[in-house]
Amino acid sequence: MESQITIFITLAATSGVLSVFLGLYAFLKRKSVPSASLFVLYNAALAIYIFGYAFELASDTLAEIKRWIVVEYVGMPFSVVLGLLLVMRYTGRTVARKTAAAMFVIPAITLAMVATNDFHHLFYQSIYLRESSPKPLVDIAVGEWYIVHGAYTFGCLLAGFVLLLRRWKQTKKTYRLQLAVLILSQIVPILAAFLYLMGVTPQGMDPVPVVLCLTSAMNIWAIVTSRMLTIVPIAKDSIFESMKEGVIVLDAAGRIVDFNRALGEMLPAFGSRVIGKTLDEAWIGMTGTAFPAVRSLDGAEEELQWTNGGRAATYLVRSSTVTSKRGDSLGTLLMLIDVTEQKRLEDRLRQLAYYDGLTQLLNRTQFLLRGKKMLEEAQSSGSPFSLVLFDIDHFKRINDTYGHETGDRALVFAVSAIRRLLSPDMLFARYGGEEFAICLPRTGIEAAAALADRLRIALSSEPLETQNARVRITASFGVAQIADGADTLESLLRDADAALYESKRNGRNAVSLRAETV
Ligand code: GH3
Ligand code: MG
Ligand code: MG
Repeated sequence: MESQITIFITLAATSGVLSVFLGLYAFLKRKSVPSASLFVLYNAALAIYIFGYAFELASDTLAEIKRWIVVEYVGMPFSVVLGLLLVMRYTGRTVARKTAAAMFVIPAITLAMVATNDFHHLFYQSIYLRESSPKPLVDIAVGEWYIVHGAYTFGCLLAGFVLLLRRWKQTKKTYRLQLAVLILSQIVPILAAFLYLMGVTPQGMDPVPVVLCLTSAMNIWAIVTSRMLTIVPIAKDSIFESMKEGVIVLDAAGRIVDFNRALGEMLPAFGSRVIGKTLDEAWIGMTGTAFPAVRSLDGAEEELQWTNGGRAATYLVRSSTVTSKRGDSLGTLLMLIDVTEQKRLEDRLRQLAYYDGLTQLLNRTQFLLRGKKMLEEAQSSGSPFSLVLFDIDHFKRINDTYGHETGDRALVFAVSAIRRLLSPDMLFARYGGEEFAICLPRTGIEAAAALADRLRIALSSEPLETQNARVRITASFGVAQIADGADTLESLLRDADAALYESKRNGRNAVSLRAETV
């Protein structure tokens, strides 16, 4: 029996050392462990309780034992409340300072009751040395306040247990083992206390301080193997889940810790199995390509194209670094904003601003802008550059004879006939009503005139078939090329226009070159 007590003292002392270790760990890591001060206090209270108990067991007289019991109560009732506050923080519940303070009222009264028990016997009705015991152990008869204290302690432990249990569903699989261990560490002292109250522990000794050795070890493992105390509380569930933007939370190692419902809807291929993988791993698995590089930069933005259920969507991915209060990086938050509609409007506006609505050719403004750039490139590289201008012949007559609608169709028809003979590096635009311009980079005037003639023939040899007519369309062409560095797009257009006028004068359906430039 002497040896059993020694084992108890040793185990209790080990528990105490573990609590001190945990407290120190939290203190040293206080930068990355939120609520570190609470955690340190919790472990300090536990250590006081456990060491007090170890000294109680080692005591020889009743007076000594009573003194150590008072020490135990400096720690124990407070540790229970601190433990519950920690669980509340962990499960994302904020407690007002006043409420938190109120939670310590009963522990404070308990301590006062224990310290002054000899005067009122409200905590222990009686406390006495066990007769037969060679090593002094005490037996007690409980008083009224002992029951209040006991109920409160069980209540706190049970509340913590229930809070952790309710967290189960929202906790991603990767962290469930840790959560299970935390839940277990909450329930083990309750079970130990029950065994004690039922009188089935060896020598009727209180096993709680001893099992705290086990729960401390569990807590250390849960905290060291996950950074859950730092990352998971970031995801304040309801806000997170009801956001319209998709959110992915990455831990410091770039692994996916969490994502919200909106993201699940945007990227249905994201399932719970991506949790714990790095974003790249998950993304490569889904698409075969790496995720946009945006995630590494705080405040960076990048667009992501994604087809979701047959609908092509554009998401703006915005990255922000999640930092602790002290500024250490805890992970990254990626926000996906659906900008598909915005993109569509932008494209539409660009289309309206740049292109002609009837023929879908570039408009005059864009032609002038882009043509100037092409001309400058030709001038700086010294390569030839030509311009073709053409105007549909007697177009007014087409309008007058067949109607404006057929006139429109004739324009579209002529453009498609011309376009077929042009290469992609040529700049083709609607310059005016039924007047068109083509910039030909790296093309001298002869080649340009030859092309213009092919265009002329193509156009004139293929009439537009309407329901009741065959409309023959011809055009007159003017060709010009740059002669020296002094040429501008405007001077080139003037030259081509003069040549075009010449074609008109010569009877139309013809190609003319600007004489001086030949
Ligand atoms: P010419 O051979 O001398 O060029 O004779 P033309 O009849 O083509 O002469 P002009 O350039 O004066 O007439 C152009 C006409 O083209 C005037 C205008 O009503 C018509 N037009 C301009 N833009 C459009 C259009 O988008 N659709 C239709 N249907 N007609 C247009
Ligand atoms: Mg005309
Ligand atoms: Mg005209």
